[in-house]
Amino acid sequence: MSLSNQEYQGIVLFGPPGAGKGEQGKRLGEKDGYFHFSTGDMFRNLDPTSATGATVKQLIDAGSFVSDELTLQLFEETLARYVAEGIFNPSTQVLVLDGIPRTAEQVAPVSALVAIQKVICLTVPDEALKQRLLLRGKKFGRADDQDLVTIGKRLQTYVELQNLVLNEFNPSLVINLDGDKTIEEVHNALVSEVRSVVLE
Ligand code: ADP
Repeated sequence: MSLSNQEYQGIVLFGPPGAGKGEQGKRLGEKDGYFHFSTGDMFRNLDPTSATGATVKQLIDAGSFVSDELTLQLFEETLARYVAEGIFNPSTQVLVLDGIPRTAEQVAPVSALVAIQKVICLTVPDEALKQRLLLRGKKFGRADDQDLVTIGKRLQTYVELQNLVLNEFNPSLVINLDGDKTIEEVHNALVSEVRSVVLE
């Protein structure tokens, strides 16, 4: 594929809900040269009284996915807005994608926009994930983190889609990282994996 139409350089943080994509993305995004983009935050920041915001909230709270079409449209629009507003500078910052691509169908459209240099797959045992999500539910009140039924549904969706998504990438780009460590330890391991990703 020609890289000429790709506007951004990026790395993908991949892994189940609760694996630490948000926390690690945020930390990496605090470093020079990286910009963290979370689709979960993008959706949660929509005005819940707007038609789109209300639809999205309903889906997320139930542990379902937002449609690929809407996800991709908002992703592209939000990125363009961040560039226009000077929040994200593609000539000096690598995009740290958290939450996208999440389905096999999202990989090609995202790759058309972002030259994906690495896919970091955070692995954490299921039991630890459930505990982390329940704790996050208590702490931040996220509706999708409140009960084991919704959590189980999201983890199951991940298991079903994981390989389908990863198979869309060149296997040499995919790196597994043990996410069952302290935030600091995972951060350090992540930094050494992405250090080699430089802007072209
Ligand atoms: P987590 O991965 O911990 O469940 P996120 O904050 O990343 O939390 O995402 C929350 C919800 O937002 C998901 O459960 C899903 O409903 C929706 N979502 C996020 N990214 C996507 C995506 N790429 N495609 C479809 N839905 C998404």
